[in-house]
Amino acid sequence: MSANDIYPKCTFSMLKGKIDCRILSTLRQMGFQRPTRIQAQAMPYLLQQKDLIGAAKTGSGKTLAFLIPAVDQLIKLGFTLKHGTGCIILSPTRELALQTFEVLKRLLTDIDISHCLIVGGEKKNKDVSKLQKGMNIVVSTPGRLLDHLQTTNTFNCKNLKCLIIDEADKLLESGFEKHVNGILEKLPNDKQTVLFSATIDDRVKNLARLALRSDPIWITVDDDAKRSTVSGLQQGYYICPVEKRMAWLYKMLKKCKKLKVMVFFSSCKSVDFHYEFFRVNCKAIVSSIHGRQSQAKRKEAYHGFVEAQNGALFCTDVAARGLDIPSVDWIVQYDPPTDPKEYIHRVGRTARGMNSKGNAVILLRPEEEEFVKFLENEKVYLDKYTFGDPPADIQEFLQKLIKENGVMKVLARKAFLSFLRCYKNHPLKSIFNIKNLDLQLASKAFGFDETPHVDFLRSK
Ligand code: ADP
Ligand code: MG
Repeated sequence: MSANDIYPKCTFSMLKGKIDCRILSTLRQMGFQRPTRIQAQAMPYLLQQKDLIGAAKTGSGKTLAFLIPAVDQLIKLGFTLKHGTGCIILSPTRELALQTFEVLKRLLTDIDISHCLIVGGEKKNKDVSKLQKGMNIVVSTPGRLLDHLQTTNTFNCKNLKCLIIDEADKLLESGFEKHVNGILEKLPNDKQTVLFSATIDDRVKNLARLALRSDPIWITVDDDAKRSTVSGLQQGYYICPVEKRMAWLYKMLKKCKKLKVMVFFSSCKSVDFHYEFFRVNCKAIVSSIHGRQSQAKRKEAYHGFVEAQNGALFCTDVAARGLDIPSVDWIVQYDPPTDPKEYIHRVGRTARGMNSKGNAVILLRPEEEEFVKFLENEKVYLDKYTFGDPPADIQEFLQKLIKENGVMKVLARKAFLSFLRCYKNHPLKSIFNIKNLDLQLASKAFGFDETPHVDFLRSK
């Protein structure tokens, strides 16, 4: 978020007398004096229990925009354990739910409103005993929540006042439509429903039609802004021949040793391979997070990186949305995003918060340079970066390693094949075209002298 995103004439203290004073003092302790635009524009309606659709880019402060009114309402209604659940917040991923939950916890430091996190991957009966006590605010992912609503009678949401659907676009993209519909059926009709999303497309509109009362309030922040990304962000692209990618990444990470860097890959297998390579063979400080890891592992990686002073986090797009990792210095898009929206979400991991600065670079092959123009149509403007030639010795080291180390070779092969599969399925085929990708050169970036056998490309 840039200073422009802070709403000029407002301060939180203007809400004195309107919302619970403990919320205001906690906000002060958190160091927030002024609301962001989305907070200033949405909160007055939310405090009146209006249904609302809020569109604002990642990093604009949506979490507090919905948490403050939700908490305030339950305080005013005098919610206690026996009232059960008064507010449900739905998040698309466990990480995002956890992050929302942590902001909620902070906000409730001095306030006695029970709250819990209900996400997949944790023990279900632990959830049940929590829910049985009567949890006033529940932060949850759709699958697990629906599970509880359907199979156990422990969940009292007769008094539900508010449902918040966060990152609705991502929820729908991740195939949670059915779950969300199922949840809507189980919840009382007479409640406030709030939907937040970075982007509003037809699917989000349909969900809004289904879930919200008629004539909801629409709030769009930055709709006509000149840029889709925040102004503290320096972003550029680097044209790199496909066979030199790994050497480039090595150089990049070495240069950024003292900084915090997130590197995006297109597949879990690719994350695993690069993680092993850098961790074991380059003794780099790296961690990894992707969708095929256990919940415990993901949580550990997330927390570790949040607390780290420096180091790299290798990830897939699971980690791209919503994660609030403070002060990431560089976002590296090693593999291309599937579309401009994903690009914007990925770079949204840096330059967050007021006056923050951050850097982003996307690696493109010479044949892919057109993507830069494509992003310009989405009001994303990239500079062309030069980094100097990547070192040759690391490439030789990698190739030798793959020849000699069977375990690494297996990882490399899986990563290479997954990389090709993702590339082949890229929706922007005119720019990311597998037909002009030289397989032999591409396999070099995974350390192969000889290209592994690929059987799924010929079929098309
Ligand atoms: P979004 O959900 O829109 O992506 P978040 O709610 O995660 O954004 O907030 C992004 C960052 O902005 C967080 O680091 C948060 O602490 C910070 N933030 C939120 N509200 C304010 C505010 N009023 N002033 C300054 N920073 C804020
Ligand atoms: Mg958010």
